[in-house]
Amino acid sequence: MQVRRRVWLSAATCAALMGAMAVPAVSAPSGAPTAVTPPAVGAAVDDDGVPYPRQEPLTEPPVDEDDQSNWRGAIPFHEIAPTVNEWMEDSEYVSAEVVGQSSQGRDLYLVTITAPETAEESAQQDAWREAIKHDAANAQDDAELLAGYKAPIWFNNNIHGNEWDGTDASMSYIAELVEALEAGDEEALALVEEHRLYFTLSNNPDGRVAGTRATALNLDANRDFITNTTPETRAIRDLTGDLQPVFFIDLHGYTGVLQVEPTGPPQGENYEHDLLMPYSYAAALRIEEDVVDAAIEGNPLTSAGGILIPYRDTPSGWDGWPPIFTPQYVQFQGSIAYTVELGPGRTNDLEENARRLEVNRQVGHQVIESTVAYVAENRDAILGNQMEIFRRGEAGEPLVEIPASPDPDDYAGPDEWAAEWDEADVTGTEFPRAYVIPAGSADAATLVDHLIAHGVEVGVADAAFTAGGEQYPAGTFVVDMHQPLRGLANVLLSDGSDISERVPTMYDISAWSLGRLWGAEVDRVGETTDPALDVTTTPIDAAPATGGFPEDAQYVSLVLDGVAEVQALNRLLAIGAAVVDVGDGRYVVGPEWLGAARAAAQTYGVTFTATDGSELAGDDVRGVSALRVGYTTGSSYGGEDELVLEELGFVDPVRVSVAGLTDGSVDLDEIDVLWLGAQLRFPEEDDTARDAVAEYLAAGKGVVASAQAGAALAAEFELFDVTAVNGPGRANGVVLVETAEDGVISAQAEEAAFTYGPAYFTDLGEGVTVEQTYAAEPLLSGHWLPTAEGTGGPEQAGGQPSVVSAESEDGARVLVFGTDPLFRTHPRGMFDDVAAALLWAGPEGAGIEPPAEEPTEEPTGEPTEEPTGEPTQEPTGEPTQVPTEEPTATVAPTEAPTDGTGGRLPTTGAEAWPLLLLTVLLAGGGAVLVARRRVTE
Ligand SMILES: [Zn+2]
Repeated sequence: MQVRRRVWLSAATCAALMGAMAVPAVSAPSGAPTAVTPPAVGAAVDDDGVPYPRQEPLTEPPVDEDDQSNWRGAIPFHEIAPTVNEWMEDSEYVSAEVVGQSSQGRDLYLVTITAPETAEESAQQDAWREAIKHDAANAQDDAELLAGYKAPIWFNNNIHGNEWDGTDASMSYIAELVEALEAGDEEALALVEEHRLYFTLSNNPDGRVAGTRATALNLDANRDFITNTTPETRAIRDLTGDLQPVFFIDLHGYTGVLQVEPTGPPQGENYEHDLLMPYSYAAALRIEEDVVDAAIEGNPLTSAGGILIPYRDTPSGWDGWPPIFTPQYVQFQGSIAYTVELGPGRTNDLEENARRLEVNRQVGHQVIESTVAYVAENRDAILGNQMEIFRRGEAGEPLVEIPASPDPDDYAGPDEWAAEWDEADVTGTEFPRAYVIPAGSADAATLVDHLIAHGVEVGVADAAFTAGGEQYPAGTFVVDMHQPLRGLANVLLSDGSDISERVPTMYDISAWSLGRLWGAEVDRVGETTDPALDVTTTPIDAAPATGGFPEDAQYVSLVLDGVAEVQALNRLLAIGAAVVDVGDGRYVVGPEWLGAARAAAQTYGVTFTATDGSELAGDDVRGVSALRVGYTTGSSYGGEDELVLEELGFVDPVRVSVAGLTDGSVDLDEIDVLWLGAQLRFPEEDDTARDAVAEYLAAGKGVVASAQAGAALAAEFELFDVTAVNGPGRANGVVLVETAEDGVISAQAEEAAFTYGPAYFTDLGEGVTVEQTYAAEPLLSGHWLPTAEGTGGPEQAGGQPSVVSAESEDGARVLVFGTDPLFRTHPRGMFDDVAAALLWAGPEGAGIEPPAEEPTEEPTGEPTEEPTGEPTQEPTGEPTQVPTEEPTATVAPTEAPTDGTGGRLPTTGAEAWPLLLLTVLLAGGGAVLVARRRVTE
């Protein structure tokens, strides 16, 4: 499969366009990958042939006296733009661009230091960068490229808002470099002729101002690099592909002593370590040497007189494994990438704070200077390795796996690393030949759009084909793993590995898998050395629209299996439609609301199927209602509970806390159903909150809860008997589960679930229903060992309940998850489990009249013949019509939201009210194809 997501305009074309003062924004002819996609918001540098310097002045924000940078003695956010503007006035070597906005709308700045480039020269750089990735075999021998390409080096700062000092260090370095350039320093001039130095000065300005680690969404952005719920990480993700750095550093604090981190064990299994580690480790040693030599006053060193290099100094369990961290993500661009932790941390003594900031400013400055010098001295080799990584990917060569205690002579480059590479570092994976993703569902389209946003190349099959013994229709998505970013594609889609035996504990998550956890079917096919699939594919820039709606139906049903399906259902409920749960995973809408259902199908890309309404007479039929969800939140950066509930379309969820219940600011009378992400801990001395919850439950109102919260609630109010057995708090992974038929979540649950601090249930009382169990060997990937007492491990959990439900004597319905369906907004395939549980536990809504048996009794006076359009009973059926829109007639997936979604989760249809109403009005009759564009990213 030949895939070129972008074909760069020729320099001449670019120059012509620039003459017309336009950023090239040529819309793509359908199906043809030969045009430049419109420039994505948040990726200002993706402008082919825009010359340097780029000096549109940055908008200077108002002075904020409360900026918490002041507390640290660091540069407040509002001073950054004026300083950059001054540099641009003084120097043609400084450029600045806005590459996105934070959750609260602050600009994310990219400052570039490089020698001026004409439009033609800039376009040439773009073409070379593109060739390095997509034509690496030839680029490796291109003398002009090797001589003329400006190697990109990128420093990201302040992703943790209350780790201010990297910003100050970067600005210190820039100021000094600009001064040298303006003074005509020859070394400095040579540097900017041969490199582009990029600085994202504050990746989390909201946190910088507020003094918080998290972003304003209350998520840790440096855990968000494959989910990308935060606009801050989406901006960096997009830049990563656009800048394609050869070296990347993410500056943090505070570990007491400077810490420089080439990856450590367990090493990520999808990287070309033989090409990355030699120079990565040698550069760290160079930084150490320079920092020690600089003898910066007040800078603490280790007892050995050096800095901390975890690869050398920390035997196990550091940051190498999950690609949720910025450097572990960027490294898939063939980049050497570090986290750098600046040393002295926060203190309440303000003078001491400022002193420490000054130490870190100088140390960080030195780190940047040493890194740039090291890259400059080793540019050809480091750039060559980047090209080799992309070449291996395109060629589909197996990963080179490094044995313990390798012979350094077997590898190119510096050899110091080899002595440190031991058993714990050994890693590797086998790439499949392709991933095949059946099309048609909104979940599959969301996944594909997300892959494309990461730069993964996806095609659609031009014809039906067979692969891995399965038959697939034309239009099936294919991720051919012979591609430059195959490591990234694999880390996103593969199952991952069980690493429980490799290290005693893990620092953060040990597994993730968009392939397993995002609700779409993803099939792994073949091995990387196999021939290509026996089908041609057409590359796409966005997944084709999904959704369908039957002709001439009287009743329609929707299977609630996916995020978009929940959104569509919640939209119908929000506008007052009657929707009935018929007990088999289907939700039925009657004749009065067909127009609204049709509009929802279009807005959310979901498929409704015609039905004759006979199931409305069944025993399990129950109207559902629009839910005001009250929630408690558990994890330390607990934005996930609110964000997911809002994304699912539950309107205005209310945060519930014991304090709020006690002071009366939260009224459970206004809550329809509770989601307990965290346990309600009632105080001994005041029963107000406890009484409020007791009253809520006595009224028969329901609860959906995480394990400990649910078990504690059941015990406290004697709702039913259950014991939650916890595994180790840090155990986590992708687990295999088996879901009961005809249960609350049987239509929603996938084969796999995510758990962090897994729990299973024992001692089930009478009336407690097992909704789901862990498979006999539950751990598919991750790190999960028993506790020190030998309990709570995967062996003990195997076959035990993972989800249970019960109904109290007062009629309160309760469902409890032992898994973690909302974890950091990542396991999207589990969100609908939570939605189905909330609808089940929430109050009963209006019913729908079943169809009359005799034509004369038809209440609406409509004819009562069978719906003519479609087979009526296929809950899992195909879309009733195939969307006809071309994939390219859609929004480019890399665009950041430009509307009022406020940087929330990638939402679908949050702005859709006017569209919905309009469509209701227009959707009068006749067969209407509904196919919509989802608003993503
Ligand atoms: Zn940090």
